[in-house]
Amino acid sequence: MRREGGTSSCCRPRRCRSPARWGRRSTRSPCSERDPIRISRERGGSVVTAVQHVAVVGAGITGLATAIALARGGVEVDIIEASEELTTVGSGISLQANALQAFAHLGVWDQVRREGYPFDGLVLRLPGPGADVISRREEPTGASDMPSAMGIPRAALARVLFDRAIALGARGRFGMRAAGVEQRAGAASVRVGEELIGTYDLVIGADGLHSAVRESIGIEAGPEPTGMGIWRAFVGRPSEVTTTELYYGGPAYIAGYTPTSESSMYAFLVFDTEKRFQTPPDEAARIMAERSLAYSGPWEAIRADLAGGAAVNYTWFTSHLLDAPWHVDRAVVIGDAAHSCPPTIAQGAAQSLEDAVSLTDLLLSAERLDESMWEEFYRRRVGRARAVVDASMQLAEWQRDGEDHSHEMPELIAGLGRRLAESA
Ligand SMILES: Cc1cc2nc3c(=O)[nH]c(=O)nc-3n(C[C@H](O)[C@H](O)[C@H](O)COP(=O)(O)OP(=O)(O)OC[C@H]3O[C@@H](n4cnc5c(N)ncnc54)[C@H](O)[C@@H]3O)c2cc1C
Repeated sequence: MRREGGTSSCCRPRRCRSPARWGRRSTRSPCSERDPIRISRERGGSVVTAVQHVAVVGAGITGLATAIALARGGVEVDIIEASEELTTVGSGISLQANALQAFAHLGVWDQVRREGYPFDGLVLRLPGPGADVISRREEPTGASDMPSAMGIPRAALARVLFDRAIALGARGRFGMRAAGVEQRAGAASVRVGEELIGTYDLVIGADGLHSAVRESIGIEAGPEPTGMGIWRAFVGRPSEVTTTELYYGGPAYIAGYTPTSESSMYAFLVFDTEKRFQTPPDEAARIMAERSLAYSGPWEAIRADLAGGAAVNYTWFTSHLLDAPWHVDRAVVIGDAAHSCPPTIAQGAAQSLEDAVSLTDLLLSAERLDESMWEEFYRRRVGRARAVVDASMQLAEWQRDGEDHSHEMPELIAGLGRRLAESA
C-alpha cells in the first residue's frame, strides 16, 4: 500500500490531554507524537508500508503496546476491547529486563518506572520463624542504565500504556466483544455480534488466552491447565521488602512477594489447582492467610492486610505455544493468544511485549504483508517464546515432583537468560 507523504493534521502542534476517564466507548486523541524517523521519511516523499489501518483486538499489555508502536508509526489504529473499561485482572506484575527494554523502545519507560518499583536481584528465604534469608542474588541486565526487573500494579501499567496509545492517535473502542474476523480480498473486518466493524489492512488478535480471533481463523490449539493455581493479594509494602523474595520450601510450591511501588506489593502462594474461581472475597482472604501461616517475616504484615480486606485473586496457570503460522491472510494472533506459560520465570508479559515490538517493527518497515515478512516474524519470535514456555514448564514440573532440583535450576535459568540476552 502506498501513501503520499506531506503534512498531516495529526502532526499539528496541539496540547495533548489524556481522556478524563479511561474506557469510554470510543476515544481518540486529536494530537500525536509521531515517530520522528517516519515523519522525516514522509516529508522526503511517498511512504510505503505494509499497513495503514489496523484493528487491535484486546486492550491488555500486548494490544496496548502494539497500538503505541503502530500509532507512533503513523498507522490508524482501532483498539477493540470487550470490557466497558480498561480492566486489569490480578494485582501486580513483575517485569524483567527485556520487558523494560520494550518499554524504552515504546517511549514509556520513564512513566512506567515512575509508577512502579525498579530493583535488582532476588532474595531467597526459608519458611518458619524469622524467615531467614539464605541467598541474595544480583542479576545484572547488561544495560547499565536499567534495573534488572521491576514490579508495578497492573492497573498503573495499563493506564500508562493506554494514555500513550491515545496520545499518539489510537482510538479505544470499549464494550465491543469481537466474535471473529471476516476476510475479503485484501481487507479484514472484526465481527461484533451481527455487525462487521471497520475495513482494516490487518486485524491483530491480542485478545488473550481465550482468543476469539485465534478461533475464528481456524487455529484449534490453545491453553491447557498445568495443574497449578495461584492466590495473589495486593497489599502494603513493608519497608524491608525491596526486591522479589521467594521462600525455599514450605507447603506452597511457590511463596513470595514483589514490591510494586513505595507503598504496595503483591504476594502470592502457588498450590495444586482447585475449583476456587467464585470464592467470595472474605473467604479468599481467609484462605490465603491460613495457607501462608508457615511463612513468617513480611508475611505477618501481609496477613494483617488480608484480615483488613486486601483484594485476593485466584487463577490457574496455563501453557501453550502455537506452531507457526500465527496468521491467516490479514489476521494474526500475538501475546497470550499465541503462547502462555506458568509465571515461574515471570516472562509471559515480556514475551508478549517482544511479540508486539517485533511485529510492529516489521509492519512499519515492510512494504507488503507477504510471506517473507511473516517468515521473518516467526524467525524472530517462535524460538524465544518456545525457550520461555519450555523453561517455565520445566521449573513448574520440578516444583511439583517433590525431588530436589536445586542443582539443576541455576543452569536452566542461566541458560534461558543467555538465550534472551541474544538479540531477537
Ligand atoms: C497468575 C499469573 C501471573 C503472571 N505473572 C507474570 C509476571 O509476573 N510477569 C510476566 O511477564 N508475566 C506474567 N504473567 C503473564 C502475563 O500476565 C500475560 O502474559 C500478559 O498479561 C498477556 O497480555 P495480553 O495482552 O496478551 O492478554 P490479556 O492481558 O489477557 O489481555 C487481553 C485483552 O483482550 C480482551 N479481550 C478478550 N477477548 C476479547 C474479545 N473477544 N474481543 C475484544 N476484547 C477481548 C480482554 O478483556 C483483555 O483486555 C502472569 C500470568 C498469570 C496467569
